[in-house]
Amino acid sequence: MIFERFSHSGIQSYKKCQAQFKFRYIDKIYKKDEGVEAFLGKRVHESIEYLYNQVISGVVPLVDEILKVHRSLWKEKWHDRVAIVYQNKTARDYFYLGEECIARFYRQNHPFKEKVIANEHEMVFLLDNDENYRIKGIVDRIDHDGDGNWEIHDYKTGKRALSQKAADKDHQLALYQIGLMSEIDNIKSVKLVWHFIQHGIKVESTRTSEDIKKVIAETKSSIDDIREKVKNGGEFPPKTTMLCNWCYYWEECPAQHGTNPNII
Ligand code: SF4
Repeated sequence: MIFERFSHSGIQSYKKCQAQFKFRYIDKIYKKDEGVEAFLGKRVHESIEYLYNQVISGVVPLVDEILKVHRSLWKEKWHDRVAIVYQNKTARDYFYLGEECIARFYRQNHPFKEKVIANEHEMVFLLDNDENYRIKGIVDRIDHDGDGNWEIHDYKTGKRALSQKAADKDHQLALYQIGLMSEIDNIKSVKLVWHFIQHGIKVESTRTSEDIKKVIAETKSSIDDIREKVKNGGEFPPKTTMLCNWCYYWEECPAQHGTNPNII
């Protein structure tokens, strides 16, 4: 079968630029390069994961301990292919931004009374119980009140926060809800929660069963489109946008020349 599993990020990549999707998911050209924003996001996620793992084990760590974890992860994982697109910023600026995100998150959520049951939870599930539509994903955090009420949490460290309207239409957490519903019986409610950490705001959304059906239908249709195109040897055209600045496929891309000047 062409593509055994799909992820939300893979489908999004197809929608943003089909050429980039092809290089990444069909030609499987892996590169070590990454934007500093993605690097920062991973370090903040890991630090918050550490925090909640401590909380689950019964200890509420001090904020200094989490900042220390962030500092050591940053040092340990930094590499020479991290790209900084905005020339007026330095790696140090992003490191401090990571610290600010963590300190703000800590301040706003202390003393961490949420009923967290899983961090960085990996799920693989089927849409409509159909083996042809297998989805994989990693959920940042899952909370459960012990009485059938669940919450799916996602941490975002980017500059943009979703409006309520955009969150209500977002597919990523809705797909995780479908995954959760396939893993767990007797679910009374599911709340989807985004933490836009740079802004210190939380956006929540719930979905009706009609909404869920719509997400399933749209996701299946995107998967069908991709498979159809691969099967028929169709074109995967480049789409040049601002996002090209963060793309590490300039050498392969017919719409670009040479290497991405932001990634040197
Ligand atoms: S450089 Fe731009 S157009 Fe080319 S593959 Fe990357 S995102 Fe697509």
